[in-house]
Amino acid sequence: MSKSIRRFSYALAVILTAATHLVAVAAQTDASAPVPAVTASRVMKADQDEPGSWLVHGRTWNDDRFSPLTQIDARNISKVGLAWSYDLDVPRGQEATPLMADGVLYFSTSWSRVVALDARSGRQLWKYDPKVPGEAGYRACCDVVNRGVALWGQKVFVGTLDGRLIALDRASGRPVWSVQTVDPSQPYSITGAPRVANGKVFIGNGGAEYGVRGYVTAYDAETGQQVWRFYTVPGNPANHENSRAMKIATPTWHGEWWKYGGGGTVWDSMTYDPETNTLFVGVGNGGPWRQEIRSPGGGDNLFLSSIVALNADTGEYRWHYQTTPGDSWDFTATQQMILADLTIEGRPRKVLMQAPKNGFFYVLDRTTGQLLSARNFVDVHWATGVDLRTGRPIEVPGARYPAGKPFVNLPSAFAAHNWYPMAYSRITHLVYIPVMEVPFKYTADADFQYRPGAWNLGVDMLAGALPDDMNERRRLRQLFKGWLLAWDPVAQREVWRVTHSDGPVSGGVLATAGGLVFQGTADSRFVAYDAATGQKLWQYATQIGVIAPPISYQVDGVQYVAVLAGWGGGYAIISPFVESASGDRHTPRRMLVFKLDGNAKLPPPAKTEVTFPDLRDQRWSADVVARGKALYYHNCAVCHGDAAVSGYVLPDLRYSPVLANETAWKQIVIGGALTANGMVSFKRWLTDADASSIRAYVAGESHRLYDDLHSQ
Ligand code: CA
Repeated sequence: MSKSIRRFSYALAVILTAATHLVAVAAQTDASAPVPAVTASRVMKADQDEPGSWLVHGRTWNDDRFSPLTQIDARNISKVGLAWSYDLDVPRGQEATPLMADGVLYFSTSWSRVVALDARSGRQLWKYDPKVPGEAGYRACCDVVNRGVALWGQKVFVGTLDGRLIALDRASGRPVWSVQTVDPSQPYSITGAPRVANGKVFIGNGGAEYGVRGYVTAYDAETGQQVWRFYTVPGNPANHENSRAMKIATPTWHGEWWKYGGGGTVWDSMTYDPETNTLFVGVGNGGPWRQEIRSPGGGDNLFLSSIVALNADTGEYRWHYQTTPGDSWDFTATQQMILADLTIEGRPRKVLMQAPKNGFFYVLDRTTGQLLSARNFVDVHWATGVDLRTGRPIEVPGARYPAGKPFVNLPSAFAAHNWYPMAYSRITHLVYIPVMEVPFKYTADADFQYRPGAWNLGVDMLAGALPDDMNERRRLRQLFKGWLLAWDPVAQREVWRVTHSDGPVSGGVLATAGGLVFQGTADSRFVAYDAATGQKLWQYATQIGVIAPPISYQVDGVQYVAVLAGWGGGYAIISPFVESASGDRHTPRRMLVFKLDGNAKLPPPAKTEVTFPDLRDQRWSADVVARGKALYYHNCAVCHGDAAVSGYVLPDLRYSPVLANETAWKQIVIGGALTANGMVSFKRWLTDADASSIRAYVAGESHRLYDDLHSQ
């Protein structure tokens, strides 16, 4: 990019920001007064008319998470402090992008609740609880999170963990309509934010690991009537689904995949292009993970791990690009997509950019779906590159881990880049990506049996289990890394990186015209970096790990930066490599809002005293412990963590007093005594004796932790 173009962009940003001072944004104070409608023209003119608003998920339909505001910049960032905070009434991970329209901040929290606050003061205007039943928590692979609401007209839309799409009145928070978007007897969930364009609300779902068939549905924003539905994988051919998309997809599958659902859930990213009235959907991994089970004999398995372009009015297929044909590694293409205009080899191109789990950064022509470039932004083991002529990855032999031959892969199911949104600066022309490097040993599950409603991976989780030796665990931990990466999407190269000292996870990203990049960290900090160099300029102690993406908005001439602080999410739940620096489990989750000269203070952080259960007189045979370990990895590890390490989200079973009480343990595991919290009965899958064996294994891990802590 030439210097003159950069100067022009700077000038444009200054003009845009000047305009914000002239536009008076009237904060809504009277709940009975009509709220100005959110419309297509408002979203499309937001850069010029209201750069202080954040109307859609990625601020505008570019979804670049770039704020044109410049009141806060590299020179004055040291004067930024807390303007106000708001304590949430729910625990667990917070992943939502807040929206700001007409002086009101709207956001969702864990358990799919919605809150509306006065964006200047943090005063609560209303909150809404859809009363998601606790057992829905079991269906959420990766915590009971929600990634945000959508606005259209006078309504706010939220998808709920149990599969409903609900429209609320923006002024009062009262429900206007509610539709069930999934078959409640199937293990679907919703954690993604709805998107809205031209009077239609688009919503996907999750559940590929449990055995579902993915799809996205459009509903009329006014009435909740279904307009169209697009399935991402074919159903049973005997049902003769004859759409063009299914005619393309069906021949790419083998066996009886429909019995497993096939996966391909659209659980997070969707992006709308108003120029072509196209909805781009990011499609998830195959279910079960291992292709040999799902589609014996291979095939591309369309539209798994693909970006699919649809006519937003009709849901008709336009084109697709598949990032990982025949996915066998949980390589979703659900990661955030950014639309931009780039000059590539001297030609202006309208592009779509994505950095999905599989480790390659893709630039597509979004009008045709043509692949323009694909370069690995991390070390990649499973492929040596992408053939630009065919658009296909060049796979390494053995990467598909045939039976008896495990494959240690980078990236892994944890990602090179997961849902944590990246940002694109219209000034530096860099993409800022929260990168994770987590190796995983993929091992075929020799005893795989499909269990409806349970996790069905076809991958032996026990084979990838943490070693028993605590020093070996500490050594392994060093292999799990994360960094904030500044990536040039035209040159396809790294410009700078900031390596995190606290494991692989960090939060979503915001870039601003003030030359700043904001990101939260796992070790409970909110940080601002120089967008050009990566130099750390400012940080704030958040008391709890931050995974949600920040936004910036402006009301009454004051620029604010807002972020939800709330450790949790998939990695925190399953990974054993999480530090106590992520905060006490009982620290309140909060909305934190910053401004220049803010001087609000947080109360001191929570500090929960932990004690070990009394297991002195209880001993189990090595056989029982080994059996318990196998059962634990098959049934429990996905929520309670590798080696029973909780990640500071759920109660750590190794400290649980219930561990010392066989009767209480069985009342929970078999009797379902904690169903309301999401811990369902495992009666369908486990016997009383199984539950006892699992207790023996967890008790052994409790001993191991106790001994380790007392030997240092
Ligand atoms: Ca997945």
